[in-house]
Amino acid sequence: MEEEHSIRMDPCSSGKDKPQADQLEFGRKFTDHMFLMDYTGEKGWHAPRIVPYEPLTVDPSAMVFHYGQSVFEGMKAYLTPDGDAQLFRPERNFQRMNHSNNRLCIPSIDETFALKAVKQLIALEKDWIPKAEGTSLYIRPFIISTEPYLGVAPSRHYKFIIILSPVGAYYKEGINPIKIAVENEYVRTVTGGTGEAKTGGNYAASLKAQEVAEEGIAQVLWLDGVERKYIEEVGSMNVFFKINGTVITPALNGSILEGVTRNSVIQLLKQWHVPIEERKISMEEVYQAHKNGSLEEAFGAGTAAVISPIGELVQAGDHLEINDGKTGAIAKRLYDTLTGIQYGKIQDPFGWVE
Ligand code: PMP
Repeated sequence: MEEEHSIRMDPCSSGKDKPQADQLEFGRKFTDHMFLMDYTGEKGWHAPRIVPYEPLTVDPSAMVFHYGQSVFEGMKAYLTPDGDAQLFRPERNFQRMNHSNNRLCIPSIDETFALKAVKQLIALEKDWIPKAEGTSLYIRPFIISTEPYLGVAPSRHYKFIIILSPVGAYYKEGINPIKIAVENEYVRTVTGGTGEAKTGGNYAASLKAQEVAEEGIAQVLWLDGVERKYIEEVGSMNVFFKINGTVITPALNGSILEGVTRNSVIQLLKQWHVPIEERKISMEEVYQAHKNGSLEEAFGAGTAAVISPIGELVQAGDHLEINDGKTGAIAKRLYDTLTGIQYGKIQDPFGWVE
């Protein structure tokens, strides 16, 4: 067992050129190596290895291409002022991966071992972590079903892979509010579906709404798929509203993805004694709050942007401006605190970084 769980290292002989700071785009360039591990019914998860980043050889009949049995995660490695690489609550990403695995009938991974693998890969690729302000190394762990079989059933073979991509700062000119359209036609998922799992199909299903959204709309506000009344998420972020001094975020209901950032925001607000409620919140409630002047702030929360203030909500031709289209005080404080902890610039009272 011990032997099976030691990671075989097969480093490449010469590395690729690293992108310049001004060429960093999200998810276009990848580091020199990747982590891989296989699963079969007989051997379980086995053969962990770090090998040169290269195309995979996968059978055209591999089940992932046909029925989408796959899961993924997204997190980042940040460089501290001392030049150390650090991760933000990575154990939660692997917990969530197992939650997704369970929903997609994929065998669970050993979360402790996955964390060891990601740390070993990052140690090897440390020079790929960009140094400029706000930049980071994006980490994409994912699992695909590889059994060559066209029957609709859980695959018996899988690959667990981790790839790394250096990414630029999300906000090039400081944190900036976005314009959001309320999505009344398409839904992302429904309770009982796969919304609380991080699986490719959810993202495929989300593309159409963005494609038909009017120009200038950064992301869409997803409503529940049954009553089309209650707010669920914004784009691929969790969403928060501050109404009359209380911050409200939709309660986890089976169709909302539980974000690591969402959980961190809730913990910070509690520490700051800002009232925070996890409950159903309807678009009507937001509308009324806007009308009577009690809608103080709205923002999205996720790994990519950390905090994304919403400056304007567009609903059936109505334009709701929030906080004069400016970044609110709570959004700014959350952004500064979370990024401060992530980049090791302020003390981490929660033990979130490692
Ligand atoms: N919702 C969806 C649908 C997402 O894809 C993400 C990004 N993972 C989030 C919320 C935010 O999650 P996290 O804070 O863990 O990045």
